[in-house]
Amino acid sequence: MKRAILFTHRWIGILSAIIGMTNFPSLEAQTRCDLDLVPRQWDGYLDWKEKIHPYHLETRDVLTVPVVVHIVYRRPDQNISDAQIHSQIDALNRAFTNPGDFLPGLPREFASLVAIPGIRFCLASQTPAGAISSGITRTSTNLENIGLLFGDNNRRRIHYTDLGGQDAWDPNRYFNIWVGELGGLLGRASMPGTLIHAEEDGIIISPEVFGTTGSVVYPFHQGKTAVHETGHYLGLAHLWGMEQGDCTEDDGLADTPQQAGPYSGCPAYPQTSCGSNDLFMNYMDLTDDPCLIMFTRDQVDVMRNTLEQYRSGLINQAAGCNQPPRWKSADQELHVIYRPEHHQLEIQFRHAGEAAFQVRIWDVTGRLVLHQMEYGSSVLPLSVPNWVLGIYFVEIITPGNQLTKKVLIY
Ligand SMILES: [Zn+2]
Repeated sequence: MKRAILFTHRWIGILSAIIGMTNFPSLEAQTRCDLDLVPRQWDGYLDWKEKIHPYHLETRDVLTVPVVVHIVYRRPDQNISDAQIHSQIDALNRAFTNPGDFLPGLPREFASLVAIPGIRFCLASQTPAGAISSGITRTSTNLENIGLLFGDNNRRRIHYTDLGGQDAWDPNRYFNIWVGELGGLLGRASMPGTLIHAEEDGIIISPEVFGTTGSVVYPFHQGKTAVHETGHYLGLAHLWGMEQGDCTEDDGLADTPQQAGPYSGCPAYPQTSCGSNDLFMNYMDLTDDPCLIMFTRDQVDVMRNTLEQYRSGLINQAAGCNQPPRWKSADQELHVIYRPEHHQLEIQFRHAGEAAFQVRIWDVTGRLVLHQMEYGSSVLPLSVPNWVLGIYFVEIITPGNQLTKKVLIY
């Protein structure tokens, strides 16, 4: 729809692209993300996107995606710690479920575009064979820049054990993230409709930009590279589409302003191309981590529809996603009351503003029994007629805070 309109503005677009060209590709921007798409693959992506029929969803429930992280390292420092891996999962979850604390810097004209995906990532607690797992594999390699090397049949080596990398866990059930050398690139992703080998479905991230602690390097130290590549994995294109430097095509979404090419660094607002101010603070641009802060509503619709229609095997939770909660002292703002006469839990949460928050309830064995996203309400009644009697932990997660209360169901 948007592409048809754009065609009539082709010459205006080319002119503005020429005027604005100095803002666009720098070395940093070109190496931050490389999808490596040939036109045939881009057409495959566009065909795929037609088929998923993105429709608007009221984001009420959180979709949970099990993740396996494959560390493929050549040097010891690339064998990053569990803590660094966990920090990346946390960073994904902030971006996809609780981005509120990133948003104060967002220009006013874009505020109404912001949407929260409501997608949560967790390290898989089971292997494909059903064994208990940390959701992390570790493989050493002698191959330099294994993420860029190919073996027979044009197979990318990092994705295959027999080529010196690590085989994927069933890509229909797990989101596979490989962390390995990429020759200066920060990340790459398989977009739906573009895959040549199904076993390569997932993303690759360079170890020095994976996570928010340990060996990460400024200005890619907030885990946003993986957020960006996960956006691709969930069906999003770059804001400027396939071609850089023109205004004849873009990401195909109505609510992202037409943009000629990527930005790098942290540009001052506003930056303009194709006749409108550009959304360089969107995760699908290539600016520095602190500047990437939001997804739009249309992007969220594509990502959630991708999960529900194309990657539905990921969200059935068969691979297990239960991580033990991290306890914090209870806070005055959260009250949890059990009303046995109604078999009902009442969660009273005093909460300023309209920001989204997550509710998680764990049983004493550390099993997650409820997880949902809520908006603004201060009293949440939950019907629990069939719950096993015993102690439960109710956890509220807001941007920058986490509250926990214990409750007995009897
Ligand atoms: Zn990209």
